[in-house]
Amino acid sequence: MLHEKLLDEARALQGEIVALRRAIHAEPELGLHTPKTRDKVRAALANLPLEWSEGPSTTGVVATLKGGAGEGRCVLLRGDMDALPMAEETGLDFASTIAGAMHSCGHDTHTAMLAGAVRLLCARRDSLKGEVRFMFQPGEEGFHGAKFMLEDGLLGGAGADRALPEAAFALHIMPNAQHGVVAGRAGALMASADQFDITVTGRGGHAAMPYSALDPVPIACEIVLALQTLVTRQFDANDPVIATVARIEAGTAHNIIADSATLRGTLRALSPRHRDKLHAALDRLATGIAAAHGAQASVTITPGFPVSVCDPRAVDLGEAVTRELFGAPAFRRMDQPIMGAEDFSYVLEQVPGAMFFLGVAAEDADWHSCPAIHSPRMTVDESALPRGAALLAGCAEKFLAEGFGD
Ligand SMILES: [Zn+2]
Ligand SMILES: [Zn+2]
Repeated sequence: MLHEKLLDEARALQGEIVALRRAIHAEPELGLHTPKTRDKVRAALANLPLEWSEGPSTTGVVATLKGGAGEGRCVLLRGDMDALPMAEETGLDFASTIAGAMHSCGHDTHTAMLAGAVRLLCARRDSLKGEVRFMFQPGEEGFHGAKFMLEDGLLGGAGADRALPEAAFALHIMPNAQHGVVAGRAGALMASADQFDITVTGRGGHAAMPYSALDPVPIACEIVLALQTLVTRQFDANDPVIATVARIEAGTAHNIIADSATLRGTLRALSPRHRDKLHAALDRLATGIAAAHGAQASVTITPGFPVSVCDPRAVDLGEAVTRELFGAPAFRRMDQPIMGAEDFSYVLEQVPGAMFFLGVAAEDADWHSCPAIHSPRMTVDESALPRGAALLAGCAEKFLAEGFGD
């Protein structure tokens, strides 16, 4: 059995995993530059047989472990390092010491679990055939850290002196999911997330004489409502999209018609095809409605993260490892994707792989009601973290040994 001792070995690392997690938690860093976090990772993994590469765009680092049993497959494991710009309200002993920054998305735990997986796999180096790359990335929370690391050639591929890995795995904790349970799904796991800005330009004037002006406000309102019709009438409900206008701005006073009105919002999709279709449809709708009223609309779409698509073979592999390590009930197939977004999607666009969710609610908790990620009160039952380290290491070990079984 491949995994007989892996969970026990991970449990023996609990103290180290928790210590690293707490050290990172107490000093959260935002965005693409997380030098203290990177240094903590490197210090925790000093003196191991790893080759490190980093830069130039971010503080992301890749540690490469070459197996002692010769050349073979190559697999990537990823953990993210950045925090969120918000004040912590957990009251924990090791709570954030940085004003306005908190690890409320659990990336401190992802980094610590990945460091745990590094230790587990280094200890088994002699029996490993092939190569494991450990990706510690900053800038997940909207900063495209994974994209920059790919463009820098840190993961391999175009412009690098080594090929991309053949499989990639990542974990995300879920504080409001059952302790120790692992969840995943083949296909779309998380949505794409793009921002849009629409400016409707008319002609301002006196609010009592709209016939002498060209009021952009009712035109903008028509666009808001037509957008909802567009979503339900032009997109297959089995491959849903979301268009939310989250902000409307126009005018300065009750008796002035504004020159222009702006709409801002988010677009979500679960397939690249519908993502592209939604971009084109939004532009057509806004410019067409404005033109019908003799006004103009300009549409700017700022691309965010792509759809996170998990390879069915990688999900099967993660499920097999979970069942072997923790027993059959520990894996759940998700019926539906999550409409949030994740920048591991950039890796999954180029490397077949999967992300899994790990439940970290306390064992005796009413987990449904635990504060979710991005809450200032989000907490993690750290006793679940060795499971994450074991799962990541197990996925790498199994892939190196068997590939996707094809
Ligand atoms: Zn997040
Ligand atoms: Zn996250």
